[in-house]
Amino acid sequence: MAKVFNFSAGPAALPEEVLVQARYELLDWHGAGLSVMEMSHRSKEFISIIEKVESELRALLAIPGNYKVLFLQGGATLQFSMIPQNLLGDKRAADYIYTGQWAKKAITEAKKFCDVNIAASSEDRNFTYVPKRETWKLDPSAAYVHITSNETIGGIEYQQVPDVGDVPLVADMSSHLLSRPVDIPRYGLIYAGAQKNIGPAGLTIVIVREDLIGRAPSEIATMADYKAYADSQSMYNTPPTFSIYMAGLVMQWIKRKGGLAEMEKKNIAKAQLLYEYLGASEFYDSPVAAEDRSRMNVPFRLKDDSLDAEFLEQASREGLVQLKGHRSIGGMRASIYNAMPLEGVQALVDFMREFERSHV
Ligand SMILES: *Cc1c(COP(=O)(O)O)cnc(C)c1O
Repeated sequence: MAKVFNFSAGPAALPEEVLVQARYELLDWHGAGLSVMEMSHRSKEFISIIEKVESELRALLAIPGNYKVLFLQGGATLQFSMIPQNLLGDKRAADYIYTGQWAKKAITEAKKFCDVNIAASSEDRNFTYVPKRETWKLDPSAAYVHITSNETIGGIEYQQVPDVGDVPLVADMSSHLLSRPVDIPRYGLIYAGAQKNIGPAGLTIVIVREDLIGRAPSEIATMADYKAYADSQSMYNTPPTFSIYMAGLVMQWIKRKGGLAEMEKKNIAKAQLLYEYLGASEFYDSPVAAEDRSRMNVPFRLKDDSLDAEFLEQASREGLVQLKGHRSIGGMRASIYNAMPLEGVQALVDFMREFERSHV
């Protein structure tokens, strides 16, 4: 088997060491005589797994004791509607920062439950920047402020936590959670689908300040109420057991590699390598404002887009796969999450340089 460098935005590459360990443990987990996939979620074996995953996550992110960690399903997309249902309380409005396609989906869902105030937007320049905090027009009666802290499609990333005073800050971190340290106490709620940077699809992680739980109206579905998960160790019903186990292996891998500060250093080095090449090249360009560029998702274009198909075809022959940009934007996108080694980004840059050389 020839292993490729997988630049998919999600489900995305997993660390090879993690896949090897999962294979090793697949039929017989730690001498239990069965696979994690076959375990009752209420067995002592699985309870030990989920407790360890939670404690690994708490240690990596330094999550304070007054925050709950919840393991859910339904993707980040289900959070778009769970968040207003759970956080509005007696308020009727919420602030949203409109920075791209994922923010848009969050806004569309929230509108079903509350008055959405678009406090700032980067639509005027096609979502290629993060609106400066000074320009935000926050609604003083908002229940929370929602940001999409890494826009996976547009390739923008907040490099600072915006100050929103006492109103809870809610962040969709689906595509960069665990790529860098996070100052958890600055947030009311953080959520992320696992399949970008944490593990396989099927698991959604929610980190939520305790006082924001228990505000949902009693009519909502039990499965949409954070309290049901918080009160039951995320086992109100059967959780996505195998995805939770795999996410735990990824967290242990991050710990072995030196934790989130070390991940961040590697991610900065990878992103710099690619952006510096894009910046120097006359053949490619990056549409995103330099200070807001994502370290995880790097959209770029060939100035001559008639070469796109040939670029993708040759890249894939070189073992560089899933570089096609999102269908709504076109061009290319290289997603370079934690599991992408520096050599993968170097191989991409080498290929791009060679492709450029042979087409000018
Ligand atoms: C992928 C993604 C989503 C959607 O995740 P699902 O798990 O497919 O629901 C939402 N927000 C962001 C920022 C994403 O990258």
